[in-house]
Amino acid sequence: MVSLSARSLPSAQTDYDAIVIGSGIGGLVTATQLAAKGASVLVLERYLIPGGSAGYFDRAGYRFDVGASMIFGFGEQGTTNLLTRALEAVNIQIETVADPVQIHYHLPNGLELKVHKDYEKFLQELGDRFPHERKGIRQFYDECWKVFNCLNVMDLLSLEELGYLTRVFFQHPLACLGLVKYLPQNVGDIARRFIHDPELLKFIDIDCYIWSVVPADKTPMINAGMVFSDRHYGGINYPKGGVGQIAEKLVEGLEKAGGQIQYKARVTEILIENGRATGVKLASGEVYRAKRVISNATRWDTFEKLLPVDRKPASEKKWQQRYQQSPSFLSLHLGVKAEALPAETECHHILLEDWQTMETEQGTIFVSIPTLLDPSLAPDGHHIIHAFTPSWISHWQDLSPSDYEAKKEAAASRVIDRLEQIFPNLNQFLDFEEVGTPRTHRRFWDATTEPMGRFPRASYPDC
Ligand SMILES: Cc1cc2nc3c(=O)[nH]c(=O)nc-3n(C[C@H](O)[C@H](O)[C@H](O)COP(=O)(O)OP(=O)(O)OC[C@H]3O[C@@H](n4cnc5c(N)ncnc54)[C@H](O)[C@@H]3O)c2cc1C
Repeated sequence: MVSLSARSLPSAQTDYDAIVIGSGIGGLVTATQLAAKGASVLVLERYLIPGGSAGYFDRAGYRFDVGASMIFGFGEQGTTNLLTRALEAVNIQIETVADPVQIHYHLPNGLELKVHKDYEKFLQELGDRFPHERKGIRQFYDECWKVFNCLNVMDLLSLEELGYLTRVFFQHPLACLGLVKYLPQNVGDIARRFIHDPELLKFIDIDCYIWSVVPADKTPMINAGMVFSDRHYGGINYPKGGVGQIAEKLVEGLEKAGGQIQYKARVTEILIENGRATGVKLASGEVYRAKRVISNATRWDTFEKLLPVDRKPASEKKWQQRYQQSPSFLSLHLGVKAEALPAETECHHILLEDWQTMETEQGTIFVSIPTLLDPSLAPDGHHIIHAFTPSWISHWQDLSPSDYEAKKEAAASRVIDRLEQIFPNLNQFLDFEEVGTPRTHRRFWDATTEPMGRFPRASYPDC
């Protein structure tokens, strides 16, 4: 999220207090927070529905989440329940279903582990698999709780904002001091202090990788403290009606609070006057003005496309030099007959057969079956399986149409065959299949940048 301010604008030119570019969860939370405090807000979204990566699409009676489905932030207490609080700010509630298990891991050498919402149950199960490390396991995860307990009393905003950090320090000096020692530390260093078994350290690696996309040695302890503890505290809760409901409800709250949203409104330019952002121009040629312009578009789009290149701040240039790209995904959205799922299947799974391939192209497979928590997302007697695995766009470029199709089909079959380790006979129970490669994802977002939007509501086109 990038915020650019415009201080001394002539009031005649100022139509809104704030314009938010994009209606992803980040953009909508920002917009609703501002609207709740009385600001006049306009959200401009290039697509047909809100949500971005947390949106949805409908196919053959199934409602698929585009991306996210393991949702943190719906807890009831503390300050880390960010979604609950964001919705409350605009007097909206959402019905959720608590997931008793965050993840069922299927790892090399038959290592099967469940991360239960119940912390003690999780420690017991992990300790049963590594009895010689029982004490170290508790010490390591208890260390994560220390970080979490400090974070869970603060109003959580960006840790990069100096003004915020100063304010929060004076409000919660002890909690802040508690956090300071963890700031420079990574998870790997702390884990090795308590744990020595190489296989268990590999488990800590993948327990980081699945959300930070890097192993423990590159995952900041502050972030791990949040994730490793909140899954047992606020827990994982799935919104009834699908993940897309979060954005839909935020929009409802935004409008109730007097804010506005416009779809099929692609911003092509952030207008700058006297060194300040003063408004935006749309692909349609319309111009809107505001005291503040907030971009929920990616920082690449914001700084490379929406702002003149010579406006790129030094801090952004530095960030781009340090940034390491992560892969896109190969995604399979499957509709399956209920018989495909063995009894007591959990909602989220991670599948990895060889530790060496954890970070490689199509190594780790992520699986969500949201219909186990909300059956209304599929026709009776059916389930959704969303499986995705990291994949680089470079693997999918420069192919003839027939080679591309063949490669896509082969990759999808490979994923389904691998999934049969968890869901035997999956092939036999397939009812619907839609495959997206990194190329599909790029084409989709590029297509939605066209002024009129080329695809029907909530579609997920392929190329
Ligand atoms: C496959 C996958 C699985 C995931 N799983 C999880 C998970 O289980 N749990 C989890 O917490 N997270 C998960 N995530 C991550 C999560 O979905 C994202 O971090 C989050 O949704 C990003 O929200 P955002 O608001 O930052 O951006 P986005 O969702 O990217 O929203 C940006 C919005 O801005 C709009 N926009 C961009 N440019 C313009 C423009 N020029 N004009 C107008 N509008 C514009 C876009 O259309 C979009 O709606 C997953 C992501 C993927 C891809």
